[in-house]
Amino acid sequence: MKNRKKMIVANWKMNVTSEKDAVGLFNSIKSVVAKLDYTQMICCPPHMYVNQVAKQVNHPNYRVGGQDAYPEESGSRTGETSVLMMKNSGAEYVILGHSERRHLETKSDVARKVTAVLEHGLKPIICIGEEARDKNWKKTLQQQLKDVFNRVPKKEPENIIIAYEPIWAISSDKKNPATSTEYMEALEVIKKELQKIFKTAKAVEKIRFLYGGSLDDKNIEDFLRHAEVNGFLVGRVSHDPRILMTMFRLIEDHVQKEIFAQINE
Ligand code: PEP
Repeated sequence: MKNRKKMIVANWKMNVTSEKDAVGLFNSIKSVVAKLDYTQMICCPPHMYVNQVAKQVNHPNYRVGGQDAYPEESGSRTGETSVLMMKNSGAEYVILGHSERRHLETKSDVARKVTAVLEHGLKPIICIGEEARDKNWKKTLQQQLKDVFNRVPKKEPENIIIAYEPIWAISSDKKNPATSTEYMEALEVIKKELQKIFKTAKAVEKIRFLYGGSLDDKNIEDFLRHAEVNGFLVGRVSHDPRILMTMFRLIEDHVQKEIFAQINE
């Protein structure tokens, strides 16, 4: 789908440790984000700060998401945050199936969560990715998609976001991001599988596709060359306003150049 803003999902994980810091960080970024023409940011604070951060939202360029949600509204689930609580706290998106959580949950848990999030009018950011580029990497991606979507009602593709996050590339100490070529290879596999699942190319066109894994201001331009990249999920740099600002500027410059090139064609 054309003319959508590039999305940056900032997964703060457990790296912001007080309400004051969460609100301060969000406010330090939001005035800049409000001025952007081609970029939208989704901030995903730790659950206990979602509510306070969501209260700072007053512009469509930035939104708030949760890092997970339990697929029931309420009940005896010690320590969990329900999908309804997430919604009532002001989250509009929820990251699901992150590789750091997949150790704690089954594939059917992930599918239940995606279903519950959609049923509550929220948008799931579904993370998939292989452990290594071994001989089975394509099958791994296909299976992860089947595991989710065989159990989820196949509607509202415009509310679905898929983040390709190869596990070997996430927060790699060796700074080992995937290249955009590897991303495009994966995207081809993902789109083909989704086409089988949703049965129409039109539905797949409505889904947004992100890249995540050691992305920063040094390698983002490699990905921006491909119009198929709808955005990015960032972890390590998600709470570094200086790096985020540089990334926003690179996105804005890139999209503007693309638009000028189209006009002059
Ligand atoms: C992540 O954990 O989803 C992620 C993309 O982290 P990083 O940007 O640090 O690789």
